[in-house]
Amino acid sequence: MQNSRRSARAPNSLSELSSKGSSSGSKASLGRFAPTPSGDMHFGSLVAATASCADALNRGGEHWVRIDDIDPPRIVQGSAERIVHALERFGVTISGDIVFQSTRQNAYQDALQQLAELDVLFACACSRQSLFQGHSCQAGCKKNRIPPNVPLRQQLEQLKNHAAIRLDTTHPRVKQCAPLSVTDRIQPVQNFPDLAVLGTPVLWRKDGLVSYLLATSIDDSNGVTDVVRGADLLAGSSAQQLIMELLMRPVPSWAHFPCAVDEHQQKLGKQTSAASIHDAPPLPLLQKAWQFLGQTPIACVTLTEFWNEAADSWAISNVPKEQTLKIT
Ligand SMILES: [Zn+2]
Repeated sequence: MQNSRRSARAPNSLSELSSKGSSSGSKASLGRFAPTPSGDMHFGSLVAATASCADALNRGGEHWVRIDDIDPPRIVQGSAERIVHALERFGVTISGDIVFQSTRQNAYQDALQQLAELDVLFACACSRQSLFQGHSCQAGCKKNRIPPNVPLRQQLEQLKNHAAIRLDTTHPRVKQCAPLSVTDRIQPVQNFPDLAVLGTPVLWRKDGLVSYLLATSIDDSNGVTDVVRGADLLAGSSAQQLIMELLMRPVPSWAHFPCAVDEHQQKLGKQTSAASIHDAPPLPLLQKAWQFLGQTPIACVTLTEFWNEAADSWAISNVPKEQTLKIT
């Protein structure tokens, strides 16, 4: 096992994170598991941790754990610690220090500043009800550009509770960078002949918080080489890749496995009151997650045996290509 230090100290700066990435060799494979601390782990999140960890180990790489705690209203106190404890109990590799997105605000603001300098951002004060299909501004907001020469922190302060900051996907600079297709190691290639399907994504929310899209784009291009996650996030990979390319950051490989759903086709999660796995015996559930991922069953009696064999035998080509899959 490669489980090493598990201190909850997060890197304080981009350079610290970057140096951490390079310490393992610039070409080393690096996967990540990035839970939101909004409750206990359930079977669906165990599938995610198992897939990303096995894939990283199979590639001889490291496996980071990143806590996506950028949305305070969703955070459950103590949840991050409980998730980390559960990962340890299930033998999931945690390489290096755990990263907390809440400590990375400077990196996100730096990225926003860089985008402002490309003149591709505008302030949108539209209400949720008035937005086209709920997410795309079709009003005249695009004339409210975010100027690069006014300190960004000052602008964010002024916009808070009044306007969100969106990416102008009609700007020639953006069009130039737009991926025409996004390849995936599990799902079919996604083609994007028209950028309009992306709408005008929010990068900074009206309530003053960084958007999931921007934060994840920055962190997934900060040393991570392979993103393996649920297919509920498949649609976001094109917008993430666009932001990475606009910022001239490295783009990881993508792999989206099917999301575990219940008998009502509902994704397992807090909303569906999915059962906590924190007190369950680890090995049978790992075997079940392994089977869910279409992998050849592993005959073993210990967690160490399971993960050693998982590292050797992981075959991403065996993962079902559906976007959802019912648990049995
Ligand atoms: Zn608007």
